Amino acid sequence: MRPGGGYDAAVVGLGVTGAAITWFLARRGARTLALDRHRPPHSQGSSHGRTRIIRKAYFESPDYGPLLERAYAGWGAVEREAGVRLFHRTGALTVGRDGGELIERVRRSSREAGVPIRALDPGDLSSLYPALRLEKGWTGILDSEAGVLRAEESVEAFLALAGREGAHLRYEEGMSRWEETGGEVRIETPRGRYSARSVVLSPGPWLPSLAGPKLHLPLQVTREVAAWFRPVHRTMDLGPGRLPVVLQERLREGVGYIVPDFGEGIRVGFHHDGEPTDPDRTAREVKAREVEALRAFLNRAVPDAGGRLVDHSVCLYTSTPDHHFAVGPHPRASRITVVSACSGHGFKFAPALGELVADRVIEGAEPSELAPFAVDRFGPG
Ligand SMILES: Cc1cc2nc3c(=O)[nH]c(=O)nc-3n(C[C@H](O)[C@H](O)[C@H](O)COP(=O)(O)OP(=O)(O)OC[C@H]3O[C@@H](n4cnc5c(N)ncnc54)[C@H](O)[C@@H]3O)c2cc1C
Repeated sequence: MRPGGGYDAAVVGLGVTGAAITWFLARRGARTLALDRHRPPHSQGSSHGRTRIIRKAYFESPDYGPLLERAYAGWGAVEREAGVRLFHRTGALTVGRDGGELIERVRRSSREAGVPIRALDPGDLSSLYPALRLEKGWTGILDSEAGVLRAEESVEAFLALAGREGAHLRYEEGMSRWEETGGEVRIETPRGRYSARSVVLSPGPWLPSLAGPKLHLPLQVTREVAAWFRPVHRTMDLGPGRLPVVLQERLREGVGYIVPDFGEGIRVGFHHDGEPTDPDRTAREVKAREVEALRAFLNRAVPDAGGRLVDHSVCLYTSTPDHHFAVGPHPRASRITVVSACSGHGFKFAPALGELVADRVIEGAEPSELAPFAVDRFGPG
């Protein structure tokens, strides 16, 4: 704490993003308070469910290229410092109609960002990944640097490193209000009052309720389901090495993803498929028809992969209208940095955002990599 009793920085919300930001702040010498209303990692927000995909061939936009390079380097640093393995390289295969939107976006974005990709014809595909089945007229694009991150272990690693650097981690203590006043921000929780020169708001799906009425950020929270299956035949090996990560167009619309089996079942989910929800009232049970839709998608892509259901999970997406992040100063409170890095694809960026947000908080830097994500781009409100 500073001599006056306050912190240099406070981070509110310790999912993967806030946890990474806390580590970068603390390792740079900022006296940092970190609050979470639950005990992270937990399953109420967006950072749980064992695995997350990391890839460079980024259909969302080539603008993410520099941030992805920084993120890959950052994951390496976390693994070295924490002494844990978080990243498993599997490659990622984007599969869709040849000439269709998904495939064309991957091609264009990779070309513009200089990401090496390999287009696979049906022959290549069946010899590299015999378990996969390709629809007629569809094609596959391989990003061989892609892989899988361990979700809960990543949150744990960031928080352990942050604690080691002296951050004050306070769990089961949620912020109830904040006020910017007299060159600092005052924070209240049910257990205490704190002050900090700068506050990072990274509460994931709870951002709309915490940012205050003066923030015009049209976020939508949706309930998204994932399921894990064992293959129909016990001898079928669907582990990494036999299968890459697969991002595949669905027959009608949308995209589904498949994560190879790391010993916990093959994971399958749909991207941006869920219904709007209130994060405090979300139905956490999974319906039979949701499981069957996932099983059917999986079995179409990888025949017989969807046998016994072994687990399922409900997770929350917090999305902006353009599905890009919102990271930067609160337009009406300069000591508050707002961080909404979800829209269903933010996990992989945690160390990059941690580093850049810490630069902003400590030095007042406004990095060009964050420029596309200005919080006020949807209007002043
Ligand atoms: C099913 C699913 C699959 C995904 N797949 C991928 C993927 O493959 N690749 C990828 O890159 N991304 C993926 N994502 C997105 C990624 O997981 C999210 O972008 C990321 O986890 C967001 O983390 P966060 O820290 O912003 O939010 P959260 O993890 O939700 O953390 C917010 C934290 O704030 C805390 N909090 C809330 N209110 C308060 C308060 N008042 N005071 C203090 N603390 C508070 C909460 O308890 C919580 O711990 C996926 C998301 C989901 C749901």
